[in-house]
Amino acid sequence: MTDCFDVLGVGFGPANLSLAIAMEEDAPEKTALFLEGQAEPVWQGGMMLDGSNIQNHPSRDLVSLRNPRSRYSFINYLFENKRLIEHLNLPVEFPLRKEYAQYIRWVREQFHQVAEYGARVREIAVVDGAGGQVYEVTTTDGATRQGRSLVLGPGRTPYVPAPFSDVVSPRVFHLTDYLYRLRALEAPPRSVAVIGGSQSAVELTLDLAKRYPQARVVNYLRSYGLRLKDTSPFSEEGYFPEFTSYYYNADRASKAALDGYMRPTNYSSADDDVLHELYLMIYEQRLDAAQRVFVQGNSQVSRVELTDAGVRLEVAELHTGEVHQDEVDLVVLATGFRDLGPAPHQEPYPALLSGVIDRFRFDEHGHLMVGADYSLRPVDPSTPPLFLNGLCESSHGIGDSGSFSLLSLRAATILDGLRAPAPADLVAN
Ligand SMILES: Cc1cc2nc3c(=O)[nH]c(=O)nc-3n(C[C@H](O)[C@H](O)[C@H](O)COP(=O)(O)OP(=O)(O)OC[C@H]3O[C@@H](n4cnc5c(N)ncnc54)[C@H](O)[C@@H]3O)c2cc1C
Repeated sequence: MTDCFDVLGVGFGPANLSLAIAMEEDAPEKTALFLEGQAEPVWQGGMMLDGSNIQNHPSRDLVSLRNPRSRYSFINYLFENKRLIEHLNLPVEFPLRKEYAQYIRWVREQFHQVAEYGARVREIAVVDGAGGQVYEVTTTDGATRQGRSLVLGPGRTPYVPAPFSDVVSPRVFHLTDYLYRLRALEAPPRSVAVIGGSQSAVELTLDLAKRYPQARVVNYLRSYGLRLKDTSPFSEEGYFPEFTSYYYNADRASKAALDGYMRPTNYSSADDDVLHELYLMIYEQRLDAAQRVFVQGNSQVSRVELTDAGVRLEVAELHTGEVHQDEVDLVVLATGFRDLGPAPHQEPYPALLSGVIDRFRFDEHGHLMVGADYSLRPVDPSTPPLFLNGLCESSHGIGDSGSFSLLSLRAATILDGLRAPAPADLVAN
C-alpha cells in the first residue's frame, strides 16, 4: 500500500466516484485512495423503492457534462449491458432509481483499485509527513491512511428536527434508514406517521400504503398541502454552472433571496406523477368508505413520547392552535438534510472535520469559508488542501445540493484545485 496518496477521499458515493473518473481520465499521474464506509455500497439503498424514479436527467450522470465521450456514461452502461434500445423504448421520462443504482455500481466496480470498502473514517488529523504536513485519517477499526490532500464526500447529514432529535428508538428513523428498519420489523406496522412534505415523503406514504394495505398511514406536514415541484425550464437554469458562479459571488442577502426562489425546484415539493397517484388513492379509499391514508397539512408535531405500544405524537394545527394526539407504531422522518451554516437546521462544519476545523476560517456570519474550487480557506497556508465534495449548497447554490446535476463539472473544478492547490483567492460571501 502506498504510504501517502496525492488524494485521499472520504466516501465513495457518486460525488467522489465522479472525481475518481475525472482523475483516471485527466490526471492519471496522481495517486488516490477513496475510503468508503459501506462494505457493499448501494446508492440510497434505504430508499430503493419499487417504481421510484430518479430526479435528474439521466445524462447528467457521473461524467457526461465534463466528458461526453467518457465510457462511464449512463448511456454506455446501458449499451454495454445490452439494454440500450429497450431502455430507450420505456414509456417514462426518468429511469428507475434501481437502474441508476445499478449504473453507479457498474462504474464503481471498475474503480476497485482506488477504493477501500468497509473503511468508515472516524477521525481526520494533520500530521508531519515526509515532504511536509499531510492528512491522516483513522478508520473505525483503527487503521490509518495518509494523503497530501483530502476530499471529503460523505454525503449530507440527515436533518432530524426537534422534538425527534432527542428520541432514540428503532420506531423513529430518518428516511435514509427506511428499508433497513422495515426489514428488521417483527410484525407489520398497524400505523405509521410520515413527517415532511418532500418528494420522499410522498414516495414513502405511497410505499407504506402499498406495502402494508391494512395499515393507517398519516403524512403530517407543516405547509397547507403537498406542493408541486417547480419544473419550469427557466427555474431549472439554477442547475446550470453559470448559476453556481452567480450564486457563489452573491452576498448573503441575495443568496437567501435566490434560495427562496429555487427551493421548490428540489425541496418541500414533489413530482406530479406521485402527487396524482397519492391523491387518487385517497379519493378511491374515501369512495370505498375505507380511508386509511391521510395527508394532514398545517401540522406540527410538538411532542413525541415512546410508549410500550409505540410512539405517541402530540400534533398542533398551526393556524387554529388545536392539538390532538396520535399513536403510531412507526415514525419515518422525511425531514431532509443539513447544509453547512450557522442556523439551527444547518451544521457549522461536517462533524468529521472536528479534529482539524481550527485550521480553517469562518466568515463574520459563521459560515465556513469555501473557495470557488470547493477548497476550505486555511488559517495557515501550510495546511494541506482540503476540498468538500457534495456539501456546498450554502456557498454554491441549489445545483450543489446533494444532486447529480452538476456532479461531473464539480469533479473537474475540484481536480483543477488539486492540480493548483494554493488556497483560492475567492471565497464565498
Ligand atoms: C432517497 C434519495 C433519492 C435521491 N435521488 C436523487 C436523484 O434521483 N437525483 C439526484 O440528482 N439526486 C438524488 N438524491 C440526492 C443524492 O444524495 C445525490 O444525488 C448523490 O447521492 C450525492 O452523492 P454523494 O456522493 O455526495 O453522497 P452519498 O450518495 O450520500 O454518498 C456518500 C458516501 O460516503 C460514505 N460515507 C459517509 N460517511 C463516511 C465515513 N465516515 N467514512 C467513509 N465513508 C463514508 C457513505 O457510505 C456513502 O456511500 C437523492 C437523495 C436521496 C436521499
